Amino acid sequence: MTHTLLPNIQWDIDLIKRYDKSGPRYTSYPTAVQFNGGFDTRHYQAARDASNHGPMSLYVHIPFCAHVCYYCACNKIITKRKEKAQPYLDALYKEMALRSDGYDKNRPIEQLHWGGGTPTFISHEQMTELMTEMGKHFNLLDTEDRDYSIEIDPRELQPDTLAHLKSIGFNRVSLGVQDFDEKVQKAVNRVQPLEMTRNTLEEARRLGFKSINIDLIYGLPFQTRESFAQTLKTVLELDPDRLSVFNYAHLPERFMPQRRINEADLPSGEQKLGMLEDSIRILTDAGYHYVGMDHFAKPDDSLAQAQIQGKLHRNFQGYTTHEECDLVALGVSSISQIGDAYFQNSADIDEYMNSITDATLPIKRGVILTEEDDLRRAVIKQLICHFNLDFKDIESRFKIQFKQHFKEELHSLTPYIEDGLISLNEDSIQVTDKGGLLIRNICMAFDEYISHPEHKVSYSKVI
Ligand code: SF4
Repeated sequence: MTHTLLPNIQWDIDLIKRYDKSGPRYTSYPTAVQFNGGFDTRHYQAARDASNHGPMSLYVHIPFCAHVCYYCACNKIITKRKEKAQPYLDALYKEMALRSDGYDKNRPIEQLHWGGGTPTFISHEQMTELMTEMGKHFNLLDTEDRDYSIEIDPRELQPDTLAHLKSIGFNRVSLGVQDFDEKVQKAVNRVQPLEMTRNTLEEARRLGFKSINIDLIYGLPFQTRESFAQTLKTVLELDPDRLSVFNYAHLPERFMPQRRINEADLPSGEQKLGMLEDSIRILTDAGYHYVGMDHFAKPDDSLAQAQIQGKLHRNFQGYTTHEECDLVALGVSSISQIGDAYFQNSADIDEYMNSITDATLPIKRGVILTEEDDLRRAVIKQLICHFNLDFKDIESRFKIQFKQHFKEELHSLTPYIEDGLISLNEDSIQVTDKGGLLIRNICMAFDEYISHPEHKVSYSKVI
């Protein structure tokens, strides 16, 4: 099978404006909007028993942050009181014991991620303890190809934190930056001097961390096309292996910190599209491979290589090189993917802690996939990761006649064909260079739930 990449994204502003509606990011299918209540430990155990083989992925959510960034839409607790961390860590250890029970202890943990919040909010001793506890319950690896990553806020590091993280097993880091312009940084309450970011990145490189990622956001207050282009140029000097360039979605009614952003200071939709256009041009001109959605990677980085080889995947951590494997997620609000089921923990810290005290998994909602969900998940994943779809591949995996099964969906793609976003061949769909930016729209054609009313309010704009 050939694997399609997006070497030459074509920027057609009229098309983009026409198709720029809200849509899921498809880190799962069905998406989290479709999760519902009524799930508990028994459902989790049944899913685990049905899928108890192969490599695994682990995620830990550490929700604490010392300062609030006004653009933030994460599940976090703003506090300077470091003593708040230990009771939460103790709860995590209990959750780990509950969750690991029944798993084949030999299943290798190929991927591990600590996210937040600010994972480095906890002390070095607590980091060691957390990793040690994880090692007691799961088969952590020390092989070179393990993918053990942590989100880093350069403002919250002690001089030897990176070295400590390396010593306890991490080999990848992702640095939060967002923008280098001081006026923008002040407006979002995240002042982080360039020197601080540079030193952190250089130290990470010196210590041997791989796939160093930098997160940027466009659409923040006071950003202009020119100022953001300057931020991109500065980033190029830092030379990260991967870049995520996210679109800021201003939803102050849903996310309280965003109420502190003055709407009048935000760039217009037109300016934001200009920033995205510049990001793609500047980064691809500099040699980065455009993976898709918000992600860029150097051509020799494992993410780009996985896409080139047709082995890219997608889960709650975004694009990943790891084959579809069970994802065990720990902590408040985290989402596990076990076989054909998703389970989300309570997003309320008190509810989470109370469940753990009662020795009950803090599952709040979830979904068990039907056969039809499973089929559509495979179709959407192939499109969003590889920008093509081979009908025969799906037919042999799911024992269906593709064109018959998806007759209506294929018909609904007619405008996309007429607009040159995809080509529909006898036995495949090919996303064109024009259609790459609108991949979420194309995937939506195969989403059985997209017309449900709850979807109308839940997603960010596709561009
Ligand atoms: S953006 Fe990150 S560091 Fe800032 S408040 Fe949100 S979770 Fe904390």
